[in-house]
Amino acid sequence: MKIARIEAIPFAIPYTKPLRFASGEVHTADHVLIRVHSDDGRIGVAEAPPRPYTYGETQESIVAVIEKIFAPELIGVSLLEREVVHARMDRTIGNPTAKAAVDMAIWDVLGRTLDVSVTQLLGGFTDRMRVSHMVGFAPDDVMVAEAQRVRDTHGITVFKVKVGRRPVDLDVGACRALRTALGPDVELYVDGNRGWTPSEAARALRAMDDLDLTLAEELCPADDVLGRRWLVSQTTVPTVADESATTPGEVTRELLGGSATMISIKTARTGFSTSQRILHQCEGMGVEVVMGNQIDGQLGTACSVAFGAAHRLTSRRAGELSNFLDMRDDLLTEPLEISGGELAVRPGPGIGVDVDPDKLAHYRLDQ
Ligand SMILES: [Mg+2]
Repeated sequence: MKIARIEAIPFAIPYTKPLRFASGEVHTADHVLIRVHSDDGRIGVAEAPPRPYTYGETQESIVAVIEKIFAPELIGVSLLEREVVHARMDRTIGNPTAKAAVDMAIWDVLGRTLDVSVTQLLGGFTDRMRVSHMVGFAPDDVMVAEAQRVRDTHGITVFKVKVGRRPVDLDVGACRALRTALGPDVELYVDGNRGWTPSEAARALRAMDDLDLTLAEELCPADDVLGRRWLVSQTTVPTVADESATTPGEVTRELLGGSATMISIKTARTGFSTSQRILHQCEGMGVEVVMGNQIDGQLGTACSVAFGAAHRLTSRRAGELSNFLDMRDDLLTEPLEISGGELAVRPGPGIGVDVDPDKLAHYRLDQ
């Protein structure tokens, strides 16, 4: 039950259409596949999505930090010694998605070793989540058509709309078009990716007061400390901290500082171990959470649903689990399927997915 080897394999799979949002855009899933081998020959997998505009990591930096620093520190550690794993990785600051993927691949190989699913190991609350779909920047009619297609094809009725453009009327118009076209029965919420000032955000929320938005995520930068606090006082829409709350300490600061009222948990940046700490921290403070998406592929999405379904609080809301629908292909032997607006946890031990060796050979960048 010891870690024998850790691989970090860069790969690239194009998107059918780019996803655009206030802090950047994504054309290709240029991710890193992490494989953790145990000394009895089992392999756990996870994927790390580099997001330089959010965390400063690149595909090359993730491969380098894992190969040069983490792997040598972790060889020989037991799969059960997660505290040791994190104590050693935490000697290096930053690198959240690299650390998260190593953590999740260790949980995967542990589950395979014990013949138990990660969802059961983590909490075993349920076996599925409702799915929320993210709609990126585009002309209003294109955003509406995408939401309608996703609703009609996959039964999804919860939509997160990317906002944060200037002037704010661009986004107010898009949200209004979506509400008008989709009717009152779908849930709509917004994510600004730090695109607005507090006054712009307050004005936009006032202009959308009749649209029944359920959440407003990261409308302004984390450094707008007093501005964000003021914004919370201006709106009745719950405000979600996402990229401003990526560690337990940041979660505490955002919540106790009054700059946010809910927290987005992303397994891509806090793995299973630290996500569970943040979840329990929120639970203890009486704060709701949403399972966010780091523009994950199918492997990352399988990790998100494995974690989200494991816990009562994370499975209460729809999780953001559908970005992989826009990828041209994926690495898994069996594709994930969203139907009836839900995504089920994959049966089987660990995370429950297997990487197709032919697909990996085709998309990997290091050979
Ligand atoms: Mg976000």
